[in-house]
Amino acid sequence: MESYLFNTILPFIEKHHVCNSCLGRQFGNLLTGLSNADRGSALKIFLAMEWEINHRQAKTGLSNISSLVSKDFSVGEQSVRRYFPDSEPNSLPCTICQDFLSYPFLESLAKEAHDLVSEYEFSTFLVGSKFPPGIIDNEDITRSTFSFEYGESIKSDFNRELGKILSTFIPDATVDFKAPDIVFTFDLIQNSIDIKSNPLFILGRYRKLERGIPQSKWFCRKCRGVGCNHCNFTGKMYQDSVEEYATTPFFNAAKGISSKFHGSGREDIDARMLGTGRPFVIEISEPKIRNLDFKTIAKQISDNSNGKVEVTIEGLTNRTKVREIKTRSSRNAKAYRAVVTLEKSLPDNHSILETITEEFTNILIQQRTPIRVAHRRADKIRTRRVSSFQIEKATKDEITLHIVCEGGLYVKELISGDQGRTQPSFSGKLGIPAVVTKLDVIEVFKSTDPI
Ligand SMILES: [Zn+2]
Ligand SMILES: [Zn+2]
Repeated sequence: MESYLFNTILPFIEKHHVCNSCLGRQFGNLLTGLSNADRGSALKIFLAMEWEINHRQAKTGLSNISSLVSKDFSVGEQSVRRYFPDSEPNSLPCTICQDFLSYPFLESLAKEAHDLVSEYEFSTFLVGSKFPPGIIDNEDITRSTFSFEYGESIKSDFNRELGKILSTFIPDATVDFKAPDIVFTFDLIQNSIDIKSNPLFILGRYRKLERGIPQSKWFCRKCRGVGCNHCNFTGKMYQDSVEEYATTPFFNAAKGISSKFHGSGREDIDARMLGTGRPFVIEISEPKIRNLDFKTIAKQISDNSNGKVEVTIEGLTNRTKVREIKTRSSRNAKAYRAVVTLEKSLPDNHSILETITEEFTNILIQQRTPIRVAHRRADKIRTRRVSSFQIEKATKDEITLHIVCEGGLYVKELISGDQGRTQPSFSGKLGIPAVVTKLDVIEVFKSTDPI
């Protein structure tokens, strides 16, 4: 029987002094459930037996077998000693991996990594590596020279075997290729270990119970955060923000290095956010702690803000959710309560309000970017649906409205008309200039349909 293995390995081991892993890795795609070191060891057993048969029958010399049996293979070494008691084992490093794949080396790296990561709380991890280009090139050349067709790359071998050893040091954590908490990068060029703790994403909803609080922190326009007379040396335009109240306790508890607040749209500074609240994701970079006590943190947020901001936490999420809440779900339907002040009193006959209510139910509104936001938003016309428009209360010069509409509609402009930029508008239909004096978001729905 022609042996593929025998014929391919023999010329290879005449040239190379290889460890079990580097021999086995050249056939790493054959058979699953084996380590490359096991494959290499099996091949060495097979080859050494072949050699011993030849030696007994024909008294062949040590020749090429000496380097094969003396690296990582004590059984072969004993056999050689039997026939050549004076032979010296070859203790040089593996010519392929320079011993980077030797168990003692991998174990020393795992120990060091384990010490470095002691401050971090995590349940999943991934191992990556940077290899000296010479080693990678050398293996590529070897592979084409000896026509090895079933090999695995040295990096994936290294990463996996080191991962296995690390798992024995950290029994509570498992390897995760998709979304690991911790990524270890073993840099074999710089001889260093880098630890990256992937961000934590916390999904929740906030309620803002007082007017005059912006969603995000606003740096002072004059000093840009340094502190000056204009901002009373706070560096901020507003003393508080939903972002700061909601984020700080999470940031402190997770011991991160920075944080971001991603809201699903935003209400005006002077509008309250009531009902079940507005969805948000808080992103904490490089967290050390991942098991957070949501209940305690939610209470801290409420306490720190004197009840101005409340949160309910749904749990941990991922970066995909951030994109989703910032784009798709910002179109989700909203319900508003608007107190509208009229410039002139209503006529005694209120029936005009009934007509308007009907006209604004299930209607498409064309809105050109409002004057008040034109400096930071592109000038364009958007179409948004108003699905329900009801009068809750009406006096001669003040009307309270309950409006349900698609996300992204500017409610203040729906009322005022924004000098004709919003069509149709409440003020236009009424024939009396009208402005919103108090606005509350009373519900953020879970879809574009207000169900
Ligand atoms: Zn090797
Ligand atoms: Zn300032």
